Amino acid sequence: MSRSIPLAVRRKVSLRANAQCEYCLVAERVSLYKFHIEHIKSLKHEGTNDLINLAYCCPDCNYYKGSDIGTFSDDGESLIRFYNPRKDRWDDHFELDNGTIHGKTDIGRATVKLFKFNDIDRLIFRQQLIDLGLYP
Ligand SMILES: [Zn+2]
Repeated sequence: MSRSIPLAVRRKVSLRANAQCEYCLVAERVSLYKFHIEHIKSLKHEGTNDLINLAYCCPDCNYYKGSDIGTFSDDGESLIRFYNPRKDRWDDHFELDNGTIHGKTDIGRATVKLFKFNDIDRLIFRQQLIDLGLYP
């Protein structure tokens, strides 16, 4: 499977997401960096380049997710998949509180933890964007 995503597909993924990270909801227009086309199910785990497996993703979320598809529960007893923007609704799994993103479900909590949504730099950035009316 090729890692290269054709430009036309990149445009479709960006448009579908309104040029916003499908995980943390930051808009590309307020980022210093170009957003990535992310494989929800990584190629390493036999994911494909099909539109249904692609998400628009900020560099932070893509970096922390890497090729992972889930993580362990807090008690370490079970595997929990990450939030899937193609299958799940953001509001079902997360809620915002003054820039902090809280997980409402096991899937939401696993995603918040591994994607480091609330690292201090990311939190301060979101709070600044909220103050400017630019988030979410
Ligand atoms: Zn993000």
